[in-house]
Amino acid sequence: MRVVRVALLAAAAVCALQAANSLETYVIDVEGGKAVLLVAPSGDSMLYDAGWPFPAGRDNGRIVEAAKAAGLKQIDYLVISHYDIDHLGDVPALLAAFPVKHIVDNGSLQTPGRQFEDRYKAFAAARDAMDHMSVKPGDKIPLRGVDVTVLEAAMKGIQTALPGAGAPNASCATIPVKPERTSDHEDNMSIGLLFTLGKFRMLDLADLEAFYEYKLVCPDNLIGTVDVYNVSVHAQEKGISGVLEQAIRARVAVMSNGPNKGGDPASWPILRGAPGMEDIWQTHFSNAGGPANNPPADFIANIDQTEGKWLHISAQPDGSFTVTNSRNGFTKTYKVRK
Ligand SMILES: [Zn+2]
Repeated sequence: MRVVRVALLAAAAVCALQAANSLETYVIDVEGGKAVLLVAPSGDSMLYDAGWPFPAGRDNGRIVEAAKAAGLKQIDYLVISHYDIDHLGDVPALLAAFPVKHIVDNGSLQTPGRQFEDRYKAFAAARDAMDHMSVKPGDKIPLRGVDVTVLEAAMKGIQTALPGAGAPNASCATIPVKPERTSDHEDNMSIGLLFTLGKFRMLDLADLEAFYEYKLVCPDNLIGTVDVYNVSVHAQEKGISGVLEQAIRARVAVMSNGPNKGGDPASWPILRGAPGMEDIWQTHFSNAGGPANNPPADFIANIDQTEGKWLHISAQPDGSFTVTNSRNGFTKTYKVRK
């Protein structure tokens, strides 16, 4: 009996130790929108986008479920990357459902249009009643225990290389720059972030499109290499060209896609052709990709649209990390890169 108790205590101590050192990331399924929850070793937490506002309560419910599973009593920073509806969600209802301490955004709405303006107004009223800040490239979001650097915000990117980065990117000469889409700039207002925990680095540029990504990695790669790449714009074709993927050498790509949104067939050859890529994980099976492109089912959180399962990335300061599929418990550890 005593031996069992000692063993249990030891196991609890190991868990506490891991929890104290790791960055926990939950890529929540919001059906082709974005909602990524992060918990730093200090316990500080951040929600990066809030999914869709409809069907009413669905995505807020999934966010709260993930926050509770992560052991949170509050979300310290809610970052709204930009004001497209699949990221802005229903913030007033979220604030009513779960405590949030600070809101971070890219500034005032720049995109005209009644639909944008109405939902921005509701968001801004809730935001202005609490502590909030707007960020620009080079700023930090002060999540204790993890460095969160703003690489991009409101169509402006960092101009100088991050420490250790800045190597020339040979693929800039061989891959043509995709033209800027001028019909809708909202995607490119996105706040793009780099998360660093010791040697572990994770890149997430939200919905930044390829033309703006190009500026971050051409002619020199200002970002450097990363371990995990949360694929831009749900892996829609407008967000993926190859220059970024060639430069960052991610080991794992994670798509926040829906069954019929994102996960464009052009994405997989570019991701799989990037140096160092080991696996692609997805929130959904992509119908457009079909069996030929999608990874094996274990790497996909939702096969059936109604499931709402998340992918959980647990990262250690030595650079190793584990990805777990909450649908079936399938897990894979990526050991320290040699
Ligand atoms: Zn989006």
